[in-house]
Amino acid sequence: IRWTRDGGWENGDLLPYGPISLDPAASVLHYGQEIFEGLKAYRHEDGSIWSFRPQANAERLQRSARRLALPELPTDDFVESIKVLVDADQDWVPDYGTGETSLYLRPFMIASEAFLGVRPANEATYYVIASPAGAYFSGGIKPVSLWLSTDYARAGDGGTGAAKCGGNYASSLAGQVQAAEYGCDQVVFLDSSTHTYIEELGGMNLFFVYRDGRLVTPQLTGTILEGITRSSILQLGSEMGLTVEERRIPIQEWKDGVASGEIAEVFACGTAAVVTPVGTLKWDGGECTVSTEPGEATMKIRETLLDLQYGKTADTRGWMQRLV
Ligand code: PMP
Repeated sequence: IRWTRDGGWENGDLLPYGPISLDPAASVLHYGQEIFEGLKAYRHEDGSIWSFRPQANAERLQRSARRLALPELPTDDFVESIKVLVDADQDWVPDYGTGETSLYLRPFMIASEAFLGVRPANEATYYVIASPAGAYFSGGIKPVSLWLSTDYARAGDGGTGAAKCGGNYASSLAGQVQAAEYGCDQVVFLDSSTHTYIEELGGMNLFFVYRDGRLVTPQLTGTILEGITRSSILQLGSEMGLTVEERRIPIQEWKDGVASGEIAEVFACGTAAVVTPVGTLKWDGGECTVSTEPGEATMKIRETLLDLQYGKTADTRGWMQRLV
């Protein structure tokens, strides 16, 4: 769907997948004015196709748009764009009962005006592409290892951290490379100003389950992505009787909590991996392992979410939206 400052949003087109052509001066290529979303389409037993809280993705895309000086796509148009694509790509949505498989949807918006001055573009283009997604864990769920990055932060205070924009991911790639060099699966970032407080992973939010029944996650600081899985888990956690806390969590609390046994489980969450148990945290000079097996609360939250998404339990919260 094309947008111009004078004319607003035009009607969209449904096109076969293929390369897009851009003017070499398109401002996205120079100043990174780009935002995106990620969500999934799930097949239910009766063949119908659903997505999980797409309005929340639409609203997050609008917040990202405001931060990146891009136009806001109305929620109805966002949901309609997903419906139109999934309807056309129905055959690509994996069958019900084929494990945690889905059709991953990637809406994104770029500044497509050709000019080289530094200012917000007067033309933007919004796209949605799709790709079938297999289970994140093939061959059993096992806790992942994390590298604690002290050299890099995902986003600076006052920067674009909370926006889902390409630049945030570009800035986290060096941290991912470092994590791999230290033999870890993912990187965990701290706040950029004090390097003291836990923020999130390169593509997931973090949660801690305390033995006394607390479920704790870093509070949103403006540099943490407002995960839709995160907000859903905060609600599910309190419904399960856990005491939920959103607050600043010093990294030392993780190390001490594992040593004392107060922290029983650590997990990461996001659309792609749903809920992923975390085992080991490694840093320059040490490491600690909370558990070598997925925790009980972690797996319960994981199953609750998956059962909802695949329509195995009734949606009493109005989170599921039928697409086809
Ligand atoms: N943090 C980051 C940096 C992410 O890229 C993602 C994935 N969108 C998340 C957290 C999790 O967000 P969500 O639950 O909306 O997928």
